[in-house]
Amino acid sequence: MSEIDRKDLFENLSRVVIKIGTTSITNDDSTVNTVFLDSVASQTAGLIAAGKEVIIVTSGAIGVGLLMLGIPTKPKEIPARQAAAAVGQGELMRYWSEAFHHYDTKVAQILLSYDFYSDRVKYLNLRNSIGSLLSYGVVPVINENDSTCTNEIDTVFGDNDRLSAMVASKIEADLLIILSDIDGLYDKNPKVYPDAKLISFVEKITPEIEAYGGDPTSMKGVGGMRTKLIAGKICEKAGCHMVIANSQIDRVIEKVVAGDNIGTLFYAAEENISNNKSRWISFSKSEGTISVDRGAMDAVIKTGGLLPKGVKGVSGDFKRGDIVSIECGGAVFAKGITDYDAQEIDKIKGVHTDDIEKILGHKDYDNVIRKENIALLD
Ligand code: GLU
Repeated sequence: MSEIDRKDLFENLSRVVIKIGTTSITNDDSTVNTVFLDSVASQTAGLIAAGKEVIIVTSGAIGVGLLMLGIPTKPKEIPARQAAAAVGQGELMRYWSEAFHHYDTKVAQILLSYDFYSDRVKYLNLRNSIGSLLSYGVVPVINENDSTCTNEIDTVFGDNDRLSAMVASKIEADLLIILSDIDGLYDKNPKVYPDAKLISFVEKITPEIEAYGGDPTSMKGVGGMRTKLIAGKICEKAGCHMVIANSQIDRVIEKVVAGDNIGTLFYAAEENISNNKSRWISFSKSEGTISVDRGAMDAVIKTGGLLPKGVKGVSGDFKRGDIVSIECGGAVFAKGITDYDAQEIDKIKGVHTDDIEKILGHKDYDNVIRKENIALLD
């Protein structure tokens, strides 16, 4: 594929995750780069005003903690790093909060451990709380919970590059922007080879592209190009485009979102994603069955989601997030990821969506299964 027109590709972005590395947050003279944080806040506020949803994944807890404790180099011992992270995280949030305050925007701290990716309940809670924060116009600011999880600060494989990709993929972001101290992906290490060439477009992360990854480069942060390529693979599978760009470029976020040709774009092929997802749903084992009436079946086939109104019954003891079969008149015609437990669906079957909250005491979605989570079977 020849290089894609980014302006077209990014025209309808609605949810953007921005990952900011430690090197962008701290200055070489051991201070926090408040000018940069202010610029991120101003650009983010602009995106929100333009109707986009923005989530920030911030590094820098350890870096800021070390500055505060007057420790000049990153200690090797995990407990010392955890202590630095514990000191730095609150302070890091204070800087973010102050930066956004200038643009009349509130921030919310979310600290994650990696199990949100595999633990369904944690993931659903995360998705719901992020959705709710965004609906209030608040910017979620995420980091790993470094002082209790050694995963990230321990190895180069668990880092905020990967964390940001996991977040972007789970919350169905359209674009992940990784801001770093490098311009993007090069065919060889530009710090060593002056003739290294910047690759501006990656259609697919092949073994050849992976070979460009090399070793971690930065002394302050954890990641390097290798972790960014791991992030790229996570995004590629999830249907989220990813751009790596240099945080020193003026108004870099605005430029990336506007489709300017800067940094490296890792393209996520749209067709593959929806196919992959529905293929994955249709091949997965179902944990139970939802029986629907004829009208609901037609609605699912024609327009998408399954509303409680058309549900006649459930069988099996499934939980929200599980894959279930959808049947009508004894024939299974679709499968989907349910947004409610079997017992909940049993209580709301046949009712109008307006009554869901009254009956269950909560309502996460109007649909029992949302359109994007349904795969029709042949
Ligand atoms: N979570 C770490 C911190 O906030 C940084 C990890 C990274 O550099 O990717 O200090």
